[in-house]
Amino acid sequence: MAFDRFNRNIHYLRISLTDMCNLRCVYCMPEDMTFRAREDLLQDEEIQRLVRVFAAMGFDKFRLTGGEPTLRENLVDIVQAMRDTPGVRELAMTTNGVTLKQLAAPLKEAGLQRINVSIDTLDPDKFRRLTRWGRIEDVWAGVEAAEQAGLKIKINAVVVRGQNDKEDAVDLARLTVERPWQIRYIEVMPMGRVSDFQKSAIVPEDELRATISEALGPMELLNGGKLDGEARMFRLKNAKGSLGFISAVTKPFCAGCNRARLTADGRLLLCLLRDKELNLMPYLRNGATDEDLKEMIEESIWHKPWGHGLAQDIRPTRNMSEIGG
Ligand code: SAM
Ligand code: SF4
Repeated sequence: MAFDRFNRNIHYLRISLTDMCNLRCVYCMPEDMTFRAREDLLQDEEIQRLVRVFAAMGFDKFRLTGGEPTLRENLVDIVQAMRDTPGVRELAMTTNGVTLKQLAAPLKEAGLQRINVSIDTLDPDKFRRLTRWGRIEDVWAGVEAAEQAGLKIKINAVVVRGQNDKEDAVDLARLTVERPWQIRYIEVMPMGRVSDFQKSAIVPEDELRATISEALGPMELLNGGKLDGEARMFRLKNAKGSLGFISAVTKPFCAGCNRARLTADGRLLLCLLRDKELNLMPYLRNGATDEDLKEMIEESIWHKPWGHGLAQDIRPTRNMSEIGG
């Protein structure tokens, strides 16, 4: 098992499969974003090798992300190889859902268990504005396909002041009355080249919960306030699903952090909101053994940071799409 110097057991790896995306969400990347060359990204065998190394170190939970992970060629084969790796217990993906209609069934069959689909609003015009050109109908078809395929579903909504923090947030919460889904509201985080816009857009969790309760009635706190991953959980009265609030900015959850991130270009990031990283690519491509990689990764995990520096205006230089959320 891998521990850091604060005695946190780090066993959850989020792997970004590509920095590319078929949308341009306003809080995630600028419209003129450019992407890395294919040869600069981890190749399939390199991903599989790293999954084996991490799993042998005690990592048991893996999430595929991006950019948009469904744009990665051979995605189904990558999932299948991961499922067959000893030690891999949980396998999930975060996606914008645009191409999920075609991919949900093959992904489930290949071993994917859970899926988080990003939907910030159910309103087609606002959805288009927030994603710059997305169509909610495509994503909704993807969610239905995922449900039919038997994937467990969570919906992620990044909340942006003045855009989707009122009736849109309420409409999403209303979905949980009839459906056993978890809707997770994410505080927008200042990242990379779009950070000025994001700072003014943050809607604190308390304000958002008040908005939802005013429209749909009181919500009860679940699990005695214990976080589910990074989300504080609530349920509306008689609802089948639940509401999660991920408040990295106003209520950081560093004490329970169990994760590390692998970027599409092979860098191990120890904190979403800090730039500290270990570039594994030169080692992977210059003859390092699995034992060498393991030692470097363990050393890096030991120094995993605690606490973000947003209050001191220390921000990650990468955009969210380059890290994977
Ligand atoms: N393209 C996929 C998607 O949108 O689900 C996966 C990658 S995306 C970077 C992962 C998650 O990060 C999504 O739920 C997205 O909404 C969220 N995200 C992007 N930019 C963010 C920001 N500035 N603050 C908070 N969350 C953000
Ligand atoms: Fe693409 Fe996801 Fe970023 Fe939106 S949040 S631009 S879908 S990577």
